[in-house]
Amino acid sequence: MSIAFPAPDAGILSRRSEILAGLSRLVPGEALIVSEDERRAFETDGLTAYRRLPLAVVLPSTTEEVAAVLRFCHENGVKVVPRGAGTSLAGGAIPQEDAIVLGVAKMNRVLEVDFENRTARVQAGITNLAISQAVAHEGFFYAPDPSSQLACTIAGNIAMNSGGAHCLKYGVTTNNLMGVTLVLLDGTVVEIGGDHLDSPGYDFLGLITGSEGQLGVVTEAVVRILRSAEGARPALLGFDSVEAAGACVAAIIGAGIIPVALEYMDRPAIQICEAFAHAGYPLDVEAMLIIEVEGSDAEIEDMLRRIVAIAEPFRPRAMKVSQSEAESAAIWKGRKSAFGATGRISDYICMDGTIPTGQLPIVLQRIDEIVKHYGLGVANVFHAGDGNLHPLVLFDINKPGEMEKAEKAGEEILKLCVEVGGCLTGEHGVGIEKRDLMRVQFSETDLAQQMRVRAVFDPNWLLNPAKVFPLDGRLVA
Ligand SMILES: Cc1cc2nc3c(=O)[nH]c(=O)nc-3n(C[C@H](O)[C@H](O)[C@H](O)COP(=O)(O)OP(=O)(O)OC[C@H]3O[C@@H](n4cnc5c(N)ncnc54)[C@H](O)[C@@H]3O)c2cc1C
Repeated sequence: MSIAFPAPDAGILSRRSEILAGLSRLVPGEALIVSEDERRAFETDGLTAYRRLPLAVVLPSTTEEVAAVLRFCHENGVKVVPRGAGTSLAGGAIPQEDAIVLGVAKMNRVLEVDFENRTARVQAGITNLAISQAVAHEGFFYAPDPSSQLACTIAGNIAMNSGGAHCLKYGVTTNNLMGVTLVLLDGTVVEIGGDHLDSPGYDFLGLITGSEGQLGVVTEAVVRILRSAEGARPALLGFDSVEAAGACVAAIIGAGIIPVALEYMDRPAIQICEAFAHAGYPLDVEAMLIIEVEGSDAEIEDMLRRIVAIAEPFRPRAMKVSQSEAESAAIWKGRKSAFGATGRISDYICMDGTIPTGQLPIVLQRIDEIVKHYGLGVANVFHAGDGNLHPLVLFDINKPGEMEKAEKAGEEILKLCVEVGGCLTGEHGVGIEKRDLMRVQFSETDLAQQMRVRAVFDPNWLLNPAKVFPLDGRLVA
């Protein structure tokens, strides 16, 4: 599965100087990046195996500047790739040679916080973590917590409908987003939703969430903020078998207990993350669960007691409850650094699919068989509570053909997710990575209907054009 990029439009390339001159009239000088050296910083994203140098990069500071740039691109047939922090693992922010990158990273302020109504209005380029930091002094936080939260922006989170370890209880981005300011391709600025619970008419906010930068550019967002729990404590449970860990997850959820987080790591992932974070993970088990509960001390004690009782029949080999803030931080550091820690020891591609949680043992066994077939390794970390898998397929980029093998293995893993009743994406989106697999999930009729919706916003296919839909099947009005 080597990913193809469309051939650049020669007409646009030949008009580069004219296009740059036009853009330079719309934003201040420092907001337009044209030199090759500086454009290199934007040629890829979290899917670093692929890269393309964009025509130019524009970094506006206001909604008005975004509107002016989009209007110009619309009128001149210039493609636009919206960008937040460029951490997409699906290649969602990778440019193409005949497109400009429109980055919102300069628009990173908190505009208004309403603690009484539990909302915050922020600019789209603010990082996920900065939102929580801005409201922490009043005991509030923003719930969705991608492991990349230090860097990724709320714009990228909205475009990918991002999740995180603590989304089991609080939901993903779509469940915590109340409104957006969206600039359409022709420069029209629309407000969708707002600081109230529901909006009349179609659920356009639901449509924008997860639309991967293809329907418009988000410049502001109204998000729900939540009061932080009195306390929270993670526990570690280690098992001798993948089956036992999977069955324990099902039993906990089946008992009606919803921990804040319920994360799974297999033996290779435990070893890799422990070497990085020194979190006290058990090293002699096949699978480990991180289960976090929250509330008052009494509530935490009670819930942990119930979870331990549920786990007993599955004979956990190791059981440990965090005893301090420092220990909790180390436990989460290990899990949240899983991708970075893996990168220290191997090249890898991170897959992202979802499965019904009951299918966990069989799917893990099949993943093992698939990667072995290609002579590769795998480390599994995932959000077990909601069945969102992240197999990290390990390979050596210096060995000819290994990356292609890893991509083939990844493709088979995603097909397996669909086969068992799951989905091609969990939280990382489709981007370029899964674009050509969309037919595994959707019929031609389904795809055509989705493309018609997209075409209402962008009939000439200028917004993030090489993503999400197979290149050979697209509708252009
Ligand atoms: C180490 C690591 C850990 C990660 N962990 C998680 C995780 O736990 N959970 C998770 O869900 N993801 C995770 N990710 C993936 C990634 O961080 C998320 O997809 C994130 O939401 C991307 O945000 P970004 O600001 O980097 O967006 P970018 O990568 O810049 O862009 C992502 C998409 O958003 C679109 N976009 C950007 N800005 C706008 C805008 N203003 N308007 C419209 N569309 C826009 C882009 O065109 C692109 O399609 C991880 C990535 C890394 C590298």
